[in-house]
Amino acid sequence: MPLLRPTCLAALATLLVSACTTSPGARPEAPADSWAVAVPAINRPEGETAAWWFRAGAAQAAERGAMAGNARNVILFVGDGMSLTTVAAARILAGQRAGQPGEEHRLSWEHFPATALSRTYNTDLQTPDSAGTMTAMATGAKARAGVISVGQAPLRGDCAGGRDHALLSLWELAAASGLRTGVVTTARLTHATPAATFAHSPDRNWERDNETPATAREAGCRDIASQLVDPALGRGADVLMGGGRHNFLPVTQPDPEYPRQSGKRNDGRDLVAEWQRAHPTGTYAWNAAQLSAAPMDAPLLALFEPDHMRFEHDRAGDAGGEPSLADMTRATIERLQVQSTQGYVLLVEAARIDHAHHYGNAHRALVDTMALSDAVQAAVELTSADDTLVMVTADHSHTLTFAGYPARGNPILDKVRGFADEDAPAGEYALDATGRPYTTLGYANGPGNTGASASQSAGPKRFLHPGKGFKPATGRPELTDVDTRHPDYMQEALVPLASESHGGDDVGVWARGPGSAAVRGSIEQNALFHLMVQATPRLRDALCERGLCNAQGVPVELPDPADFKAR
Ligand SMILES: [Zn+2]
Repeated sequence: MPLLRPTCLAALATLLVSACTTSPGARPEAPADSWAVAVPAINRPEGETAAWWFRAGAAQAAERGAMAGNARNVILFVGDGMSLTTVAAARILAGQRAGQPGEEHRLSWEHFPATALSRTYNTDLQTPDSAGTMTAMATGAKARAGVISVGQAPLRGDCAGGRDHALLSLWELAAASGLRTGVVTTARLTHATPAATFAHSPDRNWERDNETPATAREAGCRDIASQLVDPALGRGADVLMGGGRHNFLPVTQPDPEYPRQSGKRNDGRDLVAEWQRAHPTGTYAWNAAQLSAAPMDAPLLALFEPDHMRFEHDRAGDAGGEPSLADMTRATIERLQVQSTQGYVLLVEAARIDHAHHYGNAHRALVDTMALSDAVQAAVELTSADDTLVMVTADHSHTLTFAGYPARGNPILDKVRGFADEDAPAGEYALDATGRPYTTLGYANGPGNTGASASQSAGPKRFLHPGKGFKPATGRPELTDVDTRHPDYMQEALVPLASESHGGDDVGVWARGPGSAAVRGSIEQNALFHLMVQATPRLRDALCERGLCNAQGVPVELPDPADFKAR
């Protein structure tokens, strides 16, 4: 006789006796047993392989009922480095900017019906990086840190091993199945997260030719930029939008927006021109005005900055005019809707939440999170929950902390105020044990450490602070007269590091649309791929047609990319 769970005891009180006592684990919305996937027990970590991760991820999605989904389109939003603390702080900032106390506000995805927690570790790293984590979400198999859609067997940087263990991505699967695809990011398009859609590389840093070792190039390994415009499998993305122009252009070519800069490729290739030759009807855009003028019914390549795009906080100052993440999301969905007859798969990455955290600047991280909320809202308004699965998640966490006892409505970027005790009457700053005020938000490590550094004296740091040459901080800074709500204020960081680090804690997953009911519980990050594939009949059928499904039609075998050349 199983012990009654506390929820059952509550249910007993409301006379729902039979539903509770006869099957404590029953989930009426998910006929899970029929899709159960057997996963072999292995010694961990030695027994882990890409094939094992793929099957284990399939089992998690299937047991939650993802196979019941009937999605036509899938949109995956990734807030890079968007920890749960970042979500909570950003929702408050958004609410406060709207004139509310803030805590009750909801970011757009916080209205979604389904949530889960995603466990983000890489196969070789407790606190993961974006390459391994996006590989997990894009291919259904966890991977090492630093690799782009490559299984865990070869070491990072192993060219031949990377080729032998390339993993099929969700975007390659979609393109090979007659769906249209899009990739949108605020980072360089060649950066880890967008790269994992259509490129395969044993090292995330091989973004252009002269960042790829000569030995690897001679052995046939191609840089990420060249793979994005000329993918190994099939047609590639129908819409590509982001930054990173200099990785696509030769050193001899001046940049259109910043004439004193030029492309950075040494091999003489102009990948924009190559893309245009391969897409004679397509449009290339490098600023917002060109994006607005581009036709809807043709492929699009847009590269809005030589490097990463601007932080949303700084975007208005861009010389050439940059679209917002919501603008890019809207422009992409509208095109994919016009161009697709069978559906589409889209990645939208808010990449610079992560960068702002690395810089130790919570303001820019929160504002970029709000920009992601606007982008998700745009997708919600342009699509139907009847046919489009929208999933929002992060690849990994950061060390942002949300602490102290600020009063309801206290400005989230301010010092803690309003917890009345003998040290701090209501409405005045709360004081630490040495009598100094402190902010609600802080970082466990990073360039915001208040020790003297090579570029700024001891005390609070201002963005942009390289964080080199730290001497240990002696005591806390006096913040009484410091404007911690200024966009360039850097939150205090306990441990001095030039770049604040990722965090190893779980991140959230929020979902709406067909198959979203399966997004629940505590899942491994690679199960997200399976949740998306199992919820989309055309994608799961494409895998079954190649003999990769079990008797119940659940894709359980690791695909070989060679079997998915364009049809
Ligand atoms: Zn990062």
